[in-house]
Amino acid sequence: MASHRKKIVFRDALTGWFRAEGRDYPWRKTRDPYAILVSESMLQQTRIATVLQRGYYSRWMETFPDWGTLARADEAQVLKLWEGLGYYNRARNLQKAAQIVHERFADNLPDDLETVLSLPGVGRYTAGAIMSFAFDQPIPIVDGNVVRVLSRLSAWRDPVDTPPAIRHFWELAETLTCLTEPRLYNSAIMELGQRVCTLASPDCPNCPVKKWCDAQKQGLIPEIPRKKIAPPPTRIDEKVAFVLKNGKILLCPENGNRRKGLWRMPSISEAESADLPELCCFEYSITRYRVTLTVFQPSAGCIVDLAANSGAKWFPFGAYADLPALGSPYRKALEIASNQKEDIR
Ligand code: SF4
Repeated sequence: MASHRKKIVFRDALTGWFRAEGRDYPWRKTRDPYAILVSESMLQQTRIATVLQRGYYSRWMETFPDWGTLARADEAQVLKLWEGLGYYNRARNLQKAAQIVHERFADNLPDDLETVLSLPGVGRYTAGAIMSFAFDQPIPIVDGNVVRVLSRLSAWRDPVDTPPAIRHFWELAETLTCLTEPRLYNSAIMELGQRVCTLASPDCPNCPVKKWCDAQKQGLIPEIPRKKIAPPPTRIDEKVAFVLKNGKILLCPENGNRRKGLWRMPSISEAESADLPELCCFEYSITRYRVTLTVFQPSAGCIVDLAANSGAKWFPFGAYADLPALGSPYRKALEIASNQKEDIR
C-alpha cells in the first residue's frame, strides 16, 4: 500500500465502515482527556464488556468525574472502586497522573505528546489514544487488536511480539494514520480488530479493507498473527486461612509495591495447615505464575497466632462493599469459604 492515493482509499473504506457500524461506547462520546485516560487504563487488561456491563467505568466517573476529584481522593477508596479489575498499579498511576494534571496544569492537560507521555502509567499506546481521541491529533495507536489487523494486512509471518515486529507495526501504523480524521481512523482500526478481524474467526467477506489484505490473498490468515512460544508458567502453592469470628473477618495488608493498599486472607504455613480442614481450593494466574490457592479452616489456637501477625485487622463481615479492597483471588475465596463455614462464636 505504498502510494498516497491507495492510503487515502484504504482510510476512506475503513472510516466509512466505522461511521456506519462503529459502536457508541461512552468514551467515544467525549473529548475529555481525563475520561479517555480512565477508559484506556481500565481497558488495558480488561474486556470492554467487563468494564461496561459490570459498571466499572460508570461508577468511576460518577465518583471521580474529573482530575481534581481523583487527585484528592483517598487511595483506599480508589483501590476499592478498582477492585476486581486487577493490576492495581493502573489505578495508582491514574491517581498520580490526576495529581500531576491537577497541581501542575490546573486540570488542563496540554495537548502535547511529550507531556502526555510523561504521565505515570502512560506509554506509547495510551498517549496515542489520548492525543487522537481527545485532541484529534494524528498520533498512531498500536494495541493487540491493531497488531492483528496490521499483521494480516501486511502478511507478517514472523512472531508479532519481538522488538523488530513491534517497530514494524508502529511504523506501519504511523504511515497509515489519517492526518485529517485521526480520532475516527484510530477508533475504526481498533474496532475492526475487535469485531471483524478477530483471532479465531475473522469475518473476511464483510471486512471493509479486505482488498488490501495480503494474508487473505496468500491464504495465510490461520497462521497470522504468530506469537513467540511462551515458557510454561511456574506453579506455586498458596495456603490461607478463612478466619471468621463473631461476625468479623481477619485480613492482612499486602506487602510490596504492586499490591500496596490491598488486603488479603492471612497466610498459613504447610506445617500449620497440616491437620486443618480444607474449605476450598482453586487455581489462578498472575504474571508468569499459576497459583494453587487452598483455603483452610483454622483452629482456635491458630487464630490467636494469625491475629497476632503484624498489621492483621478484624473487619465486620457483612457486605463485600464494606471490606477494604481485596485481590480478586481472595475475594473469590472469601465468597466460596463463607458458604461452607459456620462463624465461630
Ligand atoms: Fe482481517 Fe480478514 Fe479483513 Fe484481512 S480480510 S483484515 S484477515 S478480517
